[in-house]
Amino acid sequence: MDADHLSQRLATVASYVPQGARLADIGTDHAYLPVNLAKRGVITSGVAGEVVPGPFKNAEHEIHKENLSDQITARLANGLQAIEPTDHIDTVAIAGMGGTLITQILTQDFDRLAGVQRLILQPNVGESNVRQFLMTHGFQLVTENLVSEDGHDYEILVADRQENPTQYGAEDLHFGPYLLADHSPVFVAKWQRELARTEAVLQQVESANEVPAEKVASLKAKISEIKEVLQRVGA
Ligand code: SAM
Repeated sequence: MDADHLSQRLATVASYVPQGARLADIGTDHAYLPVNLAKRGVITSGVAGEVVPGPFKNAEHEIHKENLSDQITARLANGLQAIEPTDHIDTVAIAGMGGTLITQILTQDFDRLAGVQRLILQPNVGESNVRQFLMTHGFQLVTENLVSEDGHDYEILVADRQENPTQYGAEDLHFGPYLLADHSPVFVAKWQRELARTEAVLQQVESANEVPAEKVASLKAKISEIKEVLQRVGA
């Protein structure tokens, strides 16, 4: 992967960045996302935020190599602290991290999102935490996508600022309201795999000398939740 050839996962994230956006990409690593968008004329300006010096140097190098230093600023900073009011950032992307970390990053400097209209989030795991954050912090999910690449399933959540976002129940938070409504073949395959994995864990747990009742109950609840959803979507 490089800035001219994004992975399908990152290309999908890129596809939700509005034309003319002022983008902050938090946890940018090589800055492939903002560089790709600047080269294609999608973003007006960008901030490439990184907390680790090595990846930050990679980002600086990539931006310099592509002569984009006037348009994209690399900043070594923790999470949203990479965003300054003078950047007038309106779109934030955070991709390739766990949902808990993404939620922490968004929560701990929430005031830095003041002018932000759109969040594009791609948690590797813990997606329901991210949906919970969005609906409790004035961001309405507007679409979701599910990309299967190199043996992993990646959920991409897109949310726009809105005063009274829809309050989702447990099932929507877990499966994703848009992903569930679409129930694409990728969605069905993901949850069939997750069902098989959970059933295997249950079997293992039940064969232990001392069977932990609480764990068994939670695995069984998870299995019946997935089965119910798969049955409902005709899988
Ligand atoms: N966003 C790129 C992508 O999706 O391909 C890179 C993902 S990489 C797996 C995660 C990056 O997030 C790492 O470079 C890591 O150093 C950075 N990161 C982790 N926590 C961070 C934080 N609190 N603030 C900024 N960057 C962070």
